[in-house]
Amino acid sequence: MNRLRLTLAAVLFAPTLLHAQQLDLLIRNGSVLDGSGSPAIHADIGIAGDRIVLIEPHIARAAKRTIDATGLVVTPGFIDPHTHTAADLSDPKRAHNEPYLTQGVTTVVTGNDGDSPIDIAATLAKWKQQGIGTNAALFIGQGTVRREIMQMSDAAPTPAQLEQMKSLVAKAMDGGAIGISTGLYYAPGSYATTEEVIEVSKVAAQHGGIYDTHIRDESSYTIGLLASVRETIRIGKEAHIPVMISHIKALGADVWGQSTQVIALIDDARTAGLNVTASQYPYNASGSSVVASLVPRWAEADGKLVQNLSDPALHDRLVQEMTENLVRRGGADSLLMTSSKDKSILGKTLAQIAKERHESPVDAAIQISANGDSSVASFNMKDADIEAFMRQPWVMTCSDGSNGHPRKYGTFPRKLRDYVFDKPVITLPFAIRSSTSLPAQTLGLKDRGLLKQGYFADVLVFDPRTIRDLATYESPRVLATGVRYLTVNGQLAVDNGALTSTLAGRPLTH
Ligand SMILES: [Zn+2]
Repeated sequence: MNRLRLTLAAVLFAPTLLHAQQLDLLIRNGSVLDGSGSPAIHADIGIAGDRIVLIEPHIARAAKRTIDATGLVVTPGFIDPHTHTAADLSDPKRAHNEPYLTQGVTTVVTGNDGDSPIDIAATLAKWKQQGIGTNAALFIGQGTVRREIMQMSDAAPTPAQLEQMKSLVAKAMDGGAIGISTGLYYAPGSYATTEEVIEVSKVAAQHGGIYDTHIRDESSYTIGLLASVRETIRIGKEAHIPVMISHIKALGADVWGQSTQVIALIDDARTAGLNVTASQYPYNASGSSVVASLVPRWAEADGKLVQNLSDPALHDRLVQEMTENLVRRGGADSLLMTSSKDKSILGKTLAQIAKERHESPVDAAIQISANGDSSVASFNMKDADIEAFMRQPWVMTCSDGSNGHPRKYGTFPRKLRDYVFDKPVITLPFAIRSSTSLPAQTLGLKDRGLLKQGYFADVLVFDPRTIRDLATYESPRVLATGVRYLTVNGQLAVDNGALTSTLAGRPLTH
């Protein structure tokens, strides 16, 4: 038995045998950034099966396919810790995940903002059976769990209801979720107290998961930005769970400049030993909806949104609070309609719509909200805050990709183009790390996020001269350019700049 093990070990690890093995793919002469943040080295990369088997200055081995990466940059495939791709991945027509592959993304995480499929195991099994273009991992959403037990009630849970929620979280973690997400800004997640969130998060912690959050207030709606960051840190401390703040930002004039205080709070928490990180997309507009950005949460309670919006007795209170919220968002000019079942409002700002209808922006917003809502691009961030957050070693890249916002198609190339190559806010090794090893380590994705012998062969080869985003607010669904080659688990998903039809992605569990 021992002898057999020794023999196996010799076969697996003997360098001579490894060298004798024919490679499936050899990527030669590239400028290699391994994802750790170290500077580029000149090296060849050998791939066999789904793994990286060699990284050396010069590999003299036969390979079934050789790619000459002279003048190109070779990095780990990007890992996006916050997307809204669950529906895409479950639909065989969209499971290829083209908007992400063309950005160099090989792994997406979804189920963020407190909103996920309730049956994690079944969803992962479906993806495995149908095939997906990128790797994908899931959070269990706290809002989803709460809705399952309490629908849209804004009440506190009974002890029995809390136990039911906790057992749903446990089931999801056993089914392969990588942690729990919250959307404490959105209903029904917003109806949960900090203590309730801590209780359900403890269950995720016991299963080795992490906590990912769209914080309660990124602006000055309720408790404010800084109190929301403090709440997140408290949840991490009391639930004994690593916490990750999604799409970190200072939203609206009331909190512009507060990136300084937010960074200080997080640095202090990290110095005290807590695992606090954040993700960020490189755009000054967030993606939201008219209801989420303007309508107060009490109006959504118990599923009575449409009824409340048309109740004359509530009209004055609604108008007053929505007027304040519109000021927070920067006024009616800063909300651009990006997707709606009412095609007549697409591509227009709330100000334009109100003018056409000869009514106030808030009355127009109430009409849109009652008529099935509309997605908006909400221009509400300052460059100084965006850049301050981006420079932090605990901030990773995320797309938060949603339909109607260009970030779904452009995030990762845009960060390189705008913040590394055109305006050097961060260095290239730092940017690559923020999109590879940092998310892999934060999310607990084993053997991914680095170019390293033995790691999965999720490898990106891009042209630093041409990589850029092409999606805009006017045309948000334009694929990015500059990715020349991309392997997912050793299979070419992009070959010489063109998408292949391979579905080499895998569901990833914690
Ligand atoms: Zn969010």
